[in-house]
Amino acid sequence: MKCMNCEGQKMKVAKIDYPVEIPGGPSLKIKGIEVFQCPKCKDTVVDSAVSAMITKMALSSLFTHYWPLEKAMPGTVATWIRKAIGMSNAELAKLSGQTSAAFSQAEKRNSDLDSLAKLHLLIKTADFVTGTTVGTDSLGMMMSQVGELVHDRGNVDSVEYQEASAG
Ligand SMILES: [Zn+2]
Repeated sequence: MKCMNCEGQKMKVAKIDYPVEIPGGPSLKIKGIEVFQCPKCKDTVVDSAVSAMITKMALSSLFTHYWPLEKAMPGTVATWIRKAIGMSNAELAKLSGQTSAAFSQAEKRNSDLDSLAKLHLLIKTADFVTGTTVGTDSLGMMMSQVGELVHDRGNVDSVEYQEASAG
């Protein structure tokens, strides 16, 4: 594979801490990810399997962080998660008993996600990360087990989590 920026430079396999920026939210670093990297300009290319793994690891870290119900989730973070798990705005609005229009307005204003919508978003995230229905199954039951499962399946310990800086 050759670098698109530097003519003819051959990219090499490298292990890096892969940064994931969530707009209006935290910065994540996924540790020890294998990428193709240009030795000259340091541009990186990730294959699709690795890219899917990075997304899952980022999601499980966000899940772990926002799972405590009192923790507010900014609208931009909610949007990032919703898109990463392939959930439509309308679907989440329906699950949490809101109209899609009211919901997308809240997303645009970047107000905190309402707590019921946040719960449903995290439940679907748990399903997505674990590849099971553990999140959905937990509705109305004890939920501590869901947190443990996501933590174990998602390699959360390999993600460095950094809060959004103020301002
Ligand atoms: Zn290059």
